[in-house]
Amino acid sequence: MAGLPYIVGNWKMNGTRAMLNEARAIDRSAQRFPKVQVGLAPPSTLIFRMRDAVELIGVGGQDCHAKENGAYTGDVSAPMLKDAGADFTIVGHSERREYHGESDADVNAKAQAALSAGLAVILCVGETEAQRDAGDAEGVVTAQLEGSCPIADGAPEKLSVAYEPVWAIGTGRVPSVADVAAMHKAIRAKLVAIYGDAGAEVRILYGGSVKADNAAELLAVPDVGGALVGGASLTAESFLAIVGAAA
Ligand code: PEP
Repeated sequence: MAGLPYIVGNWKMNGTRAMLNEARAIDRSAQRFPKVQVGLAPPSTLIFRMRDAVELIGVGGQDCHAKENGAYTGDVSAPMLKDAGADFTIVGHSERREYHGESDADVNAKAQAALSAGLAVILCVGETEAQRDAGDAEGVVTAQLEGSCPIADGAPEKLSVAYEPVWAIGTGRVPSVADVAAMHKAIRAKLVAIYGDAGAEVRILYGGSVKADNAAELLAVPDVGGALVGGASLTAESFLAIVGAAA
């Protein structure tokens, strides 16, 4: 697996200008952790200002439309994110899949659009609790990868995959270390099947209730190349504790 551990905060629909102070504090402290890559995905309204406010950390979107422009009221395209200063975008988050009905084909189109706009991509996959209880977790996640991984020259080099069990997001529950290890192994095998040798270099992040007190254990699991963090990314103190655990 290539690259530094990657810790990314997803602010979801949280944050107005006042919260840029948290981003500034995270950015200032990031220099203490040169062996960790750090990114923040604020609401799209803050991307431009956050880009100006920080120097070291990456700034990203939480989603993008698959088209470059057009009559899509309320949506934001990948070239718009790029123009606002984004380095990357998340696609396929389970909240998008659930509340906006996004299919694997939709996520694939968004990932392709992001790559075409010059953005790196964090592609989220993960099973529901019912799917895990039914013994289908690996099948669901590998099918999501099959349907949503972008296929383009240079795609694997710009791609990270975030494994986020839906039942672990915002709930305080996390899978066992053995379950995380088994899923990351299955994801790795699928990425190699899709991309060949380049699939071995794609970073696989874990996401779902990562906090200061479980980060070190989760980040030590084989083939966990970082974390996608929701709630604990909203303050510099809690997010930096996770960044520190990755250092
Ligand atoms: C997320 O939604 O990507 C996430 C991981 O959220 P949380 O850390 O709050 O579980």
